[in-house]
Amino acid sequence: MLRVTLNGQPHAAANGTILTALRAAGIAVPTLCHDARLKPIGGCRLCLVQVQGLANPVLACNTPLADGMVIATHTAEIEAQRRATLQLLAKNYPASAVAQFPDKEFHRLLRAYDVTVAPDGGNPASFRDDSHPYIRVDMAQCITCQRCIRICDEVQGQNVWELKFGGDGAAVRLRGDAATLRASACVSCGACVDTCPTGALEDKTLLTLGVPTEWRRTTCPHCGTGCEMDVGTRSGRIVAVRPVMDAPVNRGHLCVKGRYAFGFVHAPDRAREPMLRENGVWKTVSWAEAISFTAAALQRILAEHGPDSVGVLGSSRATNEENYLVQKFARVVLGTNNVDSCARVCHTPSAAAMKMTCSARASSRRCDAARG
Ligand code: SF4
Ligand code: SF4
Repeated sequence: MLRVTLNGQPHAAANGTILTALRAAGIAVPTLCHDARLKPIGGCRLCLVQVQGLANPVLACNTPLADGMVIATHTAEIEAQRRATLQLLAKNYPASAVAQFPDKEFHRLLRAYDVTVAPDGGNPASFRDDSHPYIRVDMAQCITCQRCIRICDEVQGQNVWELKFGGDGAAVRLRGDAATLRASACVSCGACVDTCPTGALEDKTLLTLGVPTEWRRTTCPHCGTGCEMDVGTRSGRIVAVRPVMDAPVNRGHLCVKGRYAFGFVHAPDRAREPMLRENGVWKTVSWAEAISFTAAALQRILAEHGPDSVGVLGSSRATNEENYLVQKFARVVLGTNNVDSCARVCHTPSAAAMKMTCSARASSRRCDAARG
């Protein structure tokens, strides 16, 4: 451990950057380009701190902590520089965006540093795109922190965004020739939306249904990986899903299914009760009636055609224990080894990715073997 002094108080801190030590000590320093999932770039210059003995302030996000450092985070000079930086970022910023989503990181900082946004701000020549099924793009709200570019590259590996035009005119745009986000290489993981501190990239559900008033942590229901997610609801309806940052399985990331495929929960035609189809027509029945019907049908098929005429499908949405019971039921009750799982379907995208990267559609252990 390193021994350092933070705002006059002695602290023991682990190796890392100054920012990591400050956050571990509970000292809030403003940042806009920083995201713990990404390599620091020191772009927004809000995390300036004064280190005793150095002539000029340094960036906390990319300066390594050293034993004995004496660090001040909120001197009058640094606070004035932060305010000036925020004023520059707010120069052409649309005031309506601040009013619509006051809790965005950038909007909170504008309030904290008493920076006002002119009502006629905004860049009318900026890029706006509604083509994507889940994401609204409005680059009039972009402060070029580059978090979207970096997370799409470093975490998702799609490289959808890039910085174009250079100098004072630098702006985030779609890479290459893609005219719309829908036509780009985007796979709808939502990571750029999650990290964007302004709302330039925003979930369409938040725009149409409003911001969540309650969040609950849960596990993604879509496959067996076990990614953790925060589900945001408003008036009892799911309006947003976010990845859990400290979840050991997914570490702040989700795929399109976990992130956006929650429409089924409130779908008006969702099956909520057992149903039987008679002469091509579905009718709602009780659980007892459905189970009796299924048991009778299975008994008849087993008697007429033997145990290998039936099979059982488990589910990657079920727990290990439930899948164990499924195979037990198949083997012990029905007498068949015909047991399979829906993973054959939902593993298809990952199998395709493994084929591309490892030349084998196999689990990671066999994938390693295939790579030799
Ligand atoms: S949603 Fe994911 S894949 Fe699409 S642009 Fe954003 S980070 Fe890239
Ligand atoms: S779109 Fe958002 S995340 Fe991307 S550079 Fe602009 S403000 Fe930053």
